[in-house]
Amino acid sequence: MALYFGVDIGGTQLKIGAFTKDGALVDKWTADTDISNAGSHIIPDIANEIRQYLTGNGELQPAGIGMGIPGPVDRYGYVRTCVNLNWNDFYPVKELGKEFPDCRIAAGNDANVAALGEYVQGAGKEYESAMLITIGTGIGGGIVLDGKILAGAHGLAGEIGHITTDSSAHECCSCGNLGCVDHIASASGIVRVMKEMLAENTTDSIIRSLESITAKDICDAARGEDELAIKCLDICMEPLAKGMAFFTHAFDPEVFMIGGGVSKGGDTILEPLRKHYQENLFLTDRGADIIVAELGNDAGMIGAAMQVL
Ligand SMILES: [Zn+2]
Repeated sequence: MALYFGVDIGGTQLKIGAFTKDGALVDKWTADTDISNAGSHIIPDIANEIRQYLTGNGELQPAGIGMGIPGPVDRYGYVRTCVNLNWNDFYPVKELGKEFPDCRIAAGNDANVAALGEYVQGAGKEYESAMLITIGTGIGGGIVLDGKILAGAHGLAGEIGHITTDSSAHECCSCGNLGCVDHIASASGIVRVMKEMLAENTTDSIIRSLESITAKDICDAARGEDELAIKCLDICMEPLAKGMAFFTHAFDPEVFMIGGGVSKGGDTILEPLRKHYQENLFLTDRGADIIVAELGNDAGMIGAAMQVL
């Protein structure tokens, strides 16, 4: 039987899944990512993991391997630089191809392949065009149009985290620009804004009793009708919603799928997003659906495999 593999390559962990040609998940497992020696062990380690999995079962043949990489990847699968993996001027597709010469090999940016995963097997199944936005430590985005990842000429398409729509910003983002969506709407951005609000006024809030604050605490408080927490999420989601309206005016997707840890906040996140998204649309009755993604941490691994299926 032909098997297809999806490998989500993270800075600390490899997440590997084995799939049938119909895209059904057969097995999944994880291994450590060894980024020493300029990341030179990563591809041989992936090859070893797959070979070990196939050992002792002569009926299984690897037919395709897709990778998701935490950095920009061009359309040929070339990586100019990937800080998380210590890769510079590296061609993972070519390197893995030497290990499996008869396999179809592909690589894409991790957010882009996660978008493909959600599009094929998750929240985007019913849609023709979709954008995945992951809200976690940072904000990532990936676009799928008519079944194909839109990576762009330089691998920058879908980078919604670093468009500058926050006109109130007074501190630079980690990228050096002022007003990035990432700086205010990411998990750390939400916590920072909440702390500023707590310091600036005396309004009662359940958050005041907490020793350390997480984005989850703020979503939980908002669900419990905590006014300050609701206001905080409204402020933080507005620049992201503006960014989504920008993307609508650029390529008009049918749906925005919201993933990442913060998406567990559900309606406490979706409601301010929908409200501010509508406010910023040209034709307010033609907006995209805004829904929560479904595949969680598996989206990248599934989408990685979908590149070769
Ligand atoms: Zn930025």
